[in-house]
Amino acid sequence: MTNTFIPYGRQNITDEDIEAVVEALRSDYLTQGLQVPAFERELAHITGAAYAVALNSATSALHVACMALDLGTGDWLWTVPTTFVASANCALYCGAQVDFVDIDPTTYTMCPVALEAKLKQADAAGKLPKILVPVHLCGQSCDMEAISRIARRFGVKIIEDASHSIGAHHQGRPVGDCRYSDITVFSFHPVKIITTAEGGMATTQDAGLARKMDLARSHGITRDPDQMTHAPDGPWYYQQISLGYNYRMTELQGALGLSQLKQLQNFLARRRQLAAQYDDLLAGLPLTRPAQHPDTNSSWHLYVVRVPAERHTAVFEVLRAAGLGVNLHYIPVHTQPYYQAMGFAAGQFPHAESYYAEAISIPLYPGLSDSDQKRVVQELTNALADQ
Ligand SMILES: *Cc1c(COP(=O)(O)O)cnc(C)c1O
Repeated sequence: MTNTFIPYGRQNITDEDIEAVVEALRSDYLTQGLQVPAFERELAHITGAAYAVALNSATSALHVACMALDLGTGDWLWTVPTTFVASANCALYCGAQVDFVDIDPTTYTMCPVALEAKLKQADAAGKLPKILVPVHLCGQSCDMEAISRIARRFGVKIIEDASHSIGAHHQGRPVGDCRYSDITVFSFHPVKIITTAEGGMATTQDAGLARKMDLARSHGITRDPDQMTHAPDGPWYYQQISLGYNYRMTELQGALGLSQLKQLQNFLARRRQLAAQYDDLLAGLPLTRPAQHPDTNSSWHLYVVRVPAERHTAVFEVLRAAGLGVNLHYIPVHTQPYYQAMGFAAGQFPHAESYYAEAISIPLYPGLSDSDQKRVVQELTNALADQ
């Protein structure tokens, strides 16, 4: 008997989703119509943010967020090494420089103690960062209260990378309400919690930041007479008042996003159920299960286990050979050749590096059946026994 392949994550598309996209396709507008603004309103409602700006990816959202906060040449942005490269690359798009703060060894998110120590040093050296990008790894919020308290003391702005955590809560409030940050960014890539194929969103409570991100996603062009340098020449008139890009989300994506949002609570409930089941099923094995900070209610984008470093590669290979699409989130960004060429070296962020030496993301998505989950646990048990 051949077992079917089980990926680490995948989208869940219903007939209603398909119907919503087809309807958008038959409508008058394929871009800049009504679906994207409706998706933005719904997302703002769910997160409790005053403004939501849709983009064609979270990478674009991070870029326009940095632009809105005036990141430029000579500035620094700090993030964590344990993230997707986009959390750091956004600084380079703006001509700024990147540095990293190590992760907490139990939650794997930005360590407030390491942050405070590094900010004190940077302050003494006159090299404080302008922006901090904490990342809500696996769907679990960072300790945003501590991080924002420390960052604010040094005048540092915050962009939350919540690519993994639409629907997650922190201190009982939705991630994305920007209670402890300037801007929050979400991703709708197919493996994330909800999908628009490609897509992202930036939320904020600040009207000025929302306006700047809106301009940056569409060429820096405005049709709002209040934003123009003089009265419109006529009904056709628009003005370019800053430099922007074409980072717009299409109506097809907006329609899909709106439809996916209707299932968000079901998706989260199933992810949380599967995570709780993993906690039980894996309890006796020689591995470390994910630790949850009491302030957080994760969206469970990923379920990451840690196995002893000396057995890590072998266990990973056995699982792949057994048809499990296990993965590793993430290779520390500072060890990437592109970042090493900037002067970063292995050994600089030991917690991120030892996490990398032990972490395995095992399958977790709403469509994962209980029987497939049991197969994952069985293969993991075998793999650990083999070594
Ligand atoms: C997926 C992801 C991104 C990038 O999202 P895209 O929508 O693919 O651009 C950024 N940061 C993190 C932490 C991610 O997981």
